[in-house]
Amino acid sequence: MKIGVIGGGIIGLSSAHYLNKAGHHVTIIDQGDLTMGCSFGNAGMIVPSHIIPLAAPGMISKGIRWMFNSTSPFYVKPRLSGDLVKWGYHFYKSATKEHVAKSAPALKDLSLFSKAMYQQLANDLPFDFGYHERGLLMLYKTKETEHEEAEMATFANQHGLEAHVLSASEVQKLEPDVKVDVRGGIYFPGDAHITPQLLVIQLISYLKQQGVVFQTNTLVNDFIIEGDIIKSINTTAKDFEFDEVILATGSWSGGVAAKLGLSIPMQAGKGYSFTLPQVEKNVRVPSIFLEARVAVTPMGDSLRFGGTMEITGVDHSISMNRVKGIVDSIPNYYPEMKVIMPGIKDVWHGLRPCSPDGLPYIGKSSKIKNLTIATGHSMMGLSQGPGTGKLVSEIIVQEKTSVNLDAFNPQRF
Ligand SMILES: Cc1cc2nc3c(=O)[nH]c(=O)nc-3n(C[C@H](O)[C@H](O)[C@H](O)COP(=O)(O)OP(=O)(O)OC[C@H]3O[C@@H](n4cnc5c(N)ncnc54)[C@H](O)[C@@H]3O)c2cc1C
Repeated sequence: MKIGVIGGGIIGLSSAHYLNKAGHHVTIIDQGDLTMGCSFGNAGMIVPSHIIPLAAPGMISKGIRWMFNSTSPFYVKPRLSGDLVKWGYHFYKSATKEHVAKSAPALKDLSLFSKAMYQQLANDLPFDFGYHERGLLMLYKTKETEHEEAEMATFANQHGLEAHVLSASEVQKLEPDVKVDVRGGIYFPGDAHITPQLLVIQLISYLKQQGVVFQTNTLVNDFIIEGDIIKSINTTAKDFEFDEVILATGSWSGGVAAKLGLSIPMQAGKGYSFTLPQVEKNVRVPSIFLEARVAVTPMGDSLRFGGTMEITGVDHSISMNRVKGIVDSIPNYYPEMKVIMPGIKDVWHGLRPCSPDGLPYIGKSSKIKNLTIATGHSMMGLSQGPGTGKLVSEIIVQEKTSVNLDAFNPQRF
């Protein structure tokens, strides 16, 4: 079949990979040059441990407390926007214990499946993208967080995920080269990490060699629909016709879906990262500073710090105050690490595609027969990318999918 994938982030690229492997003719259309999306400078963590969706009890009160601090990790820009109000309403309705209980098994299955796909890719692809299985450390400094995280570890264990509560000295043993100042940590040995830009750049070249066509710097403007199929896609370059269309447009998906008459509530959750090159005494295990909500990932001899979640709409401005919040948190956890504030040109930003219930949208459209939706992976798109791509290829050939997709139904709002 001739298949058009709109969006060339990790979700679009992974879908293209598995569709190409299955023998289809694939074209990726992207408005940018594929280094502009969210899949490039993220923290690179592959985290099956993360089974609690963003919409969870306590998130709203925490969010409100953080809103009034300009260096805090979370911010919702107040705007007169119908989309934001609708999204906020669904978020509020989803932030319940019942939703967490229902979502955790679905997120776990998707993430474990995706990790298995990463293991296969690390073996099969003819290039190295820095895949390592060193687990994840969730580090805390306060008693309150310790209590919350111990509950989280129990919850993970109950769902069959290995999680160990470590004392400060046990944490330090895992980090022989960097002094760590924490009360303790939870260690998830089943997590992994990669260097995302190494994967994205090399996967693009590899897919080109395999015959995938890249139509970059091309904005999808509109669609011609005949009956219940997409007849053609109107872009700034030309019109395209495909047998099947995959919508993998990340944070932009709400607007693109609206042009198809579909409701896919989505908000962009902006985050920042910066990377220290050639760190002599580097961190070994990817870690999250829990109170500061900062992710730390070793990538070869460099070290990446990432964080913040600003619900600001599709907005590319950089708040150096929030970047300062990330920088200021570092000595609290790594007291001997000297990190100076990066210049604005060294700060990367990405827009996480956030659905209101914290679950991705994966599945066929019920209204448009030749459309498959794969978006809204929020904080876990890198983790769940290859798994989602493989599922898309299964959906297209109407195979039984490797993961039950009921929780990810794109028609749920
Ligand atoms: C600071 C930070 C750290 C993160 N860390 C992690 C992590 O450690 N682990 C993890 O799993 N996830 C992480 N994430 C989240 C992860 O990066 C995202 O979930 C993921 O990249 C989303 O991928 P995507 O393909 O859906 O979207 P994108 O990568 O944004 O791709 C969407 C593409 O669609 C294109 N597009 C949109 N509209 C149109 C249109 N109309 N026409 C043509 N093209 C269009 C865009 O140009 C873009 O290239 C992090 C995010 C941030 C910001």
